[in-house]
Amino acid sequence: MELRLYNTLTREKQLFEPISKDQVRMYHCGPTVYQRPHIGNYRAFLFADLLRRVLELAGHDVLQIMNITDVGHLLDDADDGEDKLEVQAKKDKVDPWQVVAKVTEEFFADLELLGVKPAHAYPRASDHIPEMVEMIEALIQKGNAYRVGDNVYFDVNSFPAYGHLSGNKIENLEAGARLEINQEKRHPADFALWKSDAKHIMKWETVFGPDGFPGWHIECSAMARKYLGDHFDIHTGGEDNVFPHHECEIAQSECALDSPFVNLWMHTKFLQVDGGKMGKSLGNAYSLDDLKERGFTVLDFRLLLLRGNYRSSLNFTWEALKGAAEARINLNDFRNRLLALTDCDAADAVDLKMLSADSTVAQANTAFRAGLSDDLNTSEALAAIFHLRNTFQHGKLEASENAAALAFLNMTNTVFGFLEELSADGLADDAIDQLIVERGEARSAKDFARADAIRDELDAAGITLEDTPDGVKWFRC
Ligand code: AMP
Ligand code: ZN
Repeated sequence: MELRLYNTLTREKQLFEPISKDQVRMYHCGPTVYQRPHIGNYRAFLFADLLRRVLELAGHDVLQIMNITDVGHLLDDADDGEDKLEVQAKKDKVDPWQVVAKVTEEFFADLELLGVKPAHAYPRASDHIPEMVEMIEALIQKGNAYRVGDNVYFDVNSFPAYGHLSGNKIENLEAGARLEINQEKRHPADFALWKSDAKHIMKWETVFGPDGFPGWHIECSAMARKYLGDHFDIHTGGEDNVFPHHECEIAQSECALDSPFVNLWMHTKFLQVDGGKMGKSLGNAYSLDDLKERGFTVLDFRLLLLRGNYRSSLNFTWEALKGAAEARINLNDFRNRLLALTDCDAADAVDLKMLSADSTVAQANTAFRAGLSDDLNTSEALAAIFHLRNTFQHGKLEASENAAALAFLNMTNTVFGFLEELSADGLADDAIDQLIVERGEARSAKDFARADAIRDELDAAGITLEDTPDGVKWFRC
């Protein structure tokens, strides 16, 4: 399965070819652990998860690293100003390391809830100070960085490719309103590799002085190098990471290591809320708990994200989430109906590659993969699944294709992770509840044939119903 992926650096979709055929190495900018990540952050992290799963579907072995930023990320991503962690710690009247511990724990709990495949390592910035210092010293030695007192800055004019990723030209940055004039810098666009501030709580004594802390950008360069080597395949982040964060990472890494840095840069567009920006102060930076409180599951959220494509901004509304939840129930129901007609052993015996090309399931499989191959076009891949479901729903799927359809659906779930986990007998609890509700509705509408069909379906899956004065009870036999 070939993948064509959009590279922010070259501004085109290109055929993905790993540097080493044995392993794809990729790095994702992870959370700054000052506040529990919101659902926007999870769009970026679930994209990383999707990318890994698609690469694995395409037959690659993947080494995946996501960092934890626990120091050095200043307000507004700029060089000056307070550290996001220290600001939060002041608000909470605790030590910044307590904030780090609490939010990191929340982050890992969320990842587990979301069913994200764990990355191979989650390095923390504060554990990699020596690696950063080593890189900064190399940059000073090569003339790409300079010291002013205990601060160290990168000299953007020493790297002619500065601006290639974002399209920002150094000349334009000079006049840019975003960059505050810092008299220490040779050029306003120069950025801090190391800063010094005696008032900082999270600080280290190094060759640069007693009270220093790293710039946010050097953290990712140093951690990526340590876990993935000087030159690796893929680096991702949200669209706001393109500039300055990733632009600066490229400059530092390529200058310090005399090596190309990353072949493919991929960026997720933002998740917006009600058509606008998501923000704590706006009260719309929802957490996974907020979704749960309104009766939704993380699987509904996963499906919502898959309905859009990662390079288009996506507007989060409760209405859209409700639509995704309904679609997800339909897919679960599709699987349950298949399970009632065939079983997992029969599905496991199916080799999707060996199906006759003109079979309905083979066509769904081809369309699903074609969607993903085209820069992870998940909406197209989903359409292939729903098309198969509709064919089945209209009684147009040959009975001989049921096992293959189940095999196909299970395969799509290894990539999308949107179906409920099956219990040992093959039907998830809430799918059973749902079928019982449907049976009750069918009886009220005097549609006894439908009601009996549901009872038979449950019976075939080993679920026995008992009508009691307190309602229908079910048990597994
Ligand atoms: P941060 O915790 O601010 O370092 O952000 C962690 C990741 O989430 C980064 O890759 C950001 O680009 C990404 N991100 C932040 N806000 C959003 C959003 N609304 N939609 C998608 N990604 C986001
Ligand atoms: Zn980063």
